[in-house]
Amino acid sequence: MKIFAIGRNYVEHIEELNNERPDEPVIFTKPDTALVRNNQPFYYPDFTSDIHYEVELVLRICKMGKNIHEKFAHTYFDAIGLGIDFTARDIQSKAKEKGLPWALAKGFDGSAPISEFLPISSFKDINNINFSLKVDGEVKQKGNSSLMLFNYNKIISYISKFVTLRSSDLIFTGTPKGVGPIKIGNKLEGYIENTKLLDIEIK
Ligand code: MG
Repeated sequence: MKIFAIGRNYVEHIEELNNERPDEPVIFTKPDTALVRNNQPFYYPDFTSDIHYEVELVLRICKMGKNIHEKFAHTYFDAIGLGIDFTARDIQSKAKEKGLPWALAKGFDGSAPISEFLPISSFKDINNINFSLKVDGEVKQKGNSSLMLFNYNKIISYISKFVTLRSSDLIFTGTPKGVGPIKIGNKLEGYIENTKLLDIEIK
C-alpha cells in the first residue's frame, strides 16, 4: 500500500508557515513503515529536536484507478479516518531552504499515526467534517473539510494522473492552522466531530 499526503491545503496553515499558495496540489509520500496504528505511543527520535504535529483527515482508497475523472473520484474512497502527519520541522526547513525533498522530514518511522476508519455512509456530509487535535487537553488545531483548497475529488484525480491508486492506499488531506511542536510526555487526542479517534502518548 502507498501513503500520499498533501501539503498546503488550508489557507490559514499556508499563512502561518509563510508558504506560497499553490496552483496545483503539493503531493508527497510516506513509506508504510511510517504508520502507527491502534493508538500505540510515538517514540521521539534522536535525529530531530523539532517535531510538529499536523492533524489531518485521511482517505482510504477502495479500488484501483488511474486517470480518475473528478466526477467519479468519490467512488474511489470508502472511509475517512484521522491521522497525524508528524514533521521534523528542523529537517524540513533545511531541505526547503536548499530546494531539496522533504522525504526524511516527513517519512521517518512512526511519522504517520492513523485512527480507525469510519465508513463514508456514517457521515452526514463529508464536505463539512469538523476535526480537531488536543495536546495535553488543550485544543490546538480545529479544521473543517469545507476549507480545503483542493477537495477530495481534486486530490484523487490529480494524484491518479501520475500514480495508479490501489485499494487500501491512504491519502492525508492536509492540516489546518495551529501546528506546533511536541515533546516527550505530551498526550495527543484527535477528534472527528465529538468522537475521539486518536489518543497518543509521546515517549
Ligand atoms: Mg501535513
